[in-house]
Amino acid sequence: MTTTRFAPSPTGYIHIGNLRTALMNYLIARKANGTFILRIDDTDPERSKEEYVDAIKRDLDWLGLHWDRVERQSQRLDRYAEAADRLRGMGRFYEAFETPTELDLKRKKQLNMGKPPVYDRAALALSDAEKDALRADRGQGVWRFLLQHERIEWQDGILGDISIDAASVSDPVLIKADGQVLYTLASVVDDTEMGVTDVVRGSDHVTNTATQIQIIQALGGAVPNFAHHSLLTGPQGEALSKRLGVLALRDLRESGVQPKAVLSLMARLGSSDPVELRTEMSELIDGFDITRFGSAPTKFDVEDLYPLTARYLQGLPLSAVRDHVTALDVPDDLAEPFWLMARDNITTLADLGEWWELCRDGAEPLVADEDQAFIAQAMDLLPEGPFDTTTWGSWTSAVKDATGRKGKGLFMPLRKAVTGRERGPDMATLMPLLQVVRARS
Ligand code: GLU
Repeated sequence: MTTTRFAPSPTGYIHIGNLRTALMNYLIARKANGTFILRIDDTDPERSKEEYVDAIKRDLDWLGLHWDRVERQSQRLDRYAEAADRLRGMGRFYEAFETPTELDLKRKKQLNMGKPPVYDRAALALSDAEKDALRADRGQGVWRFLLQHERIEWQDGILGDISIDAASVSDPVLIKADGQVLYTLASVVDDTEMGVTDVVRGSDHVTNTATQIQIIQALGGAVPNFAHHSLLTGPQGEALSKRLGVLALRDLRESGVQPKAVLSLMARLGSSDPVELRTEMSELIDGFDITRFGSAPTKFDVEDLYPLTARYLQGLPLSAVRDHVTALDVPDDLAEPFWLMARDNITTLADLGEWWELCRDGAEPLVADEDQAFIAQAMDLLPEGPFDTTTWGSWTSAVKDATGRKGKGLFMPLRKAVTGRERGPDMATLMPLLQVVRARS
């Protein structure tokens, strides 16, 4: 059975790049009627915070990416210890004692000689007595996985055929000197034991994947299908990380972007399929195909979320936004006509307030000098009321007959005089609302 996971480290808020990973894994699982696991990668006790776990869940909930179960790495430390013992038992795990400064020096020497900065495995040559001495002097060492020097190959769901020379990669540290299990080992143990069949993650993990494949094989697990999506850049191709502050999902939520706008964009951005607004999760699931994604960096522009949000709102009935309308103190019986008038003229729900103010308080007329006389004449022709949806039509044709103006020269000055704006709702729908509201206040 298809099983995927989204595996954030709870060391910060999730951002649009993480969301892409979450969404792809979610869609793969749902498309195959499989299981989607939310795995909290919290083996780092210093940096992991419960508040971030809560925030991650809240963000996923907001988006409607519901998980089938939650796993926490901090509760599985015994499993990782057991795997580490097995690796030790098969001679694929060794303790190393170099300090960061020593490693740095080695790297610099290698680079100076034009060699790749790969760990030289000096620790493998240490005798037991030398290790005891180092341990007495420096404390516990780190534990490295002994890679087999051969090519590691896989067929990547996005990148195609990948082949990495294991000799070009350092033996990865899987356990730190203080005993903390690192992500690479924990992730492999989890993926294997939880039966994860498909792993989608960012292309910054490609080298990890190479080493993980060897660890999985050493532990006798099944290698999942891997796919690595390209990294997101800003609209000009600049690194997104500089702007991550504004692209945290919680900030997007605050800015009024709608979840379906985010999902619609991110399910297609970087693929050869067009971005289309999808209002139902089932459409997103049906329309998702990972093979359509390319390896080139994907340009992301947060501004693209706003037109999608506006289009989404245009299709909503009052029932979907009633709380937002009543929060403005719109009387119950006017909620429906007000929403139907306003929904085509907002980008986010925050813009509703402006239109309600117009209905409630009217607007300072916007009248160009050359239109003063025309507007005065038009105002004399404005019917007493009550206004209904025919009022605008009959008024403008009376003004047309009296002044000879037509087209834009007729409608635009009238719109500006009534609403104080050059653009806005359909006047026929707006006029009755303006009058009813004002008559009551
Ligand atoms: N916790 C890892 C990360 O956030 C998970 C990577 C993976 O999907 O394996 O990068």
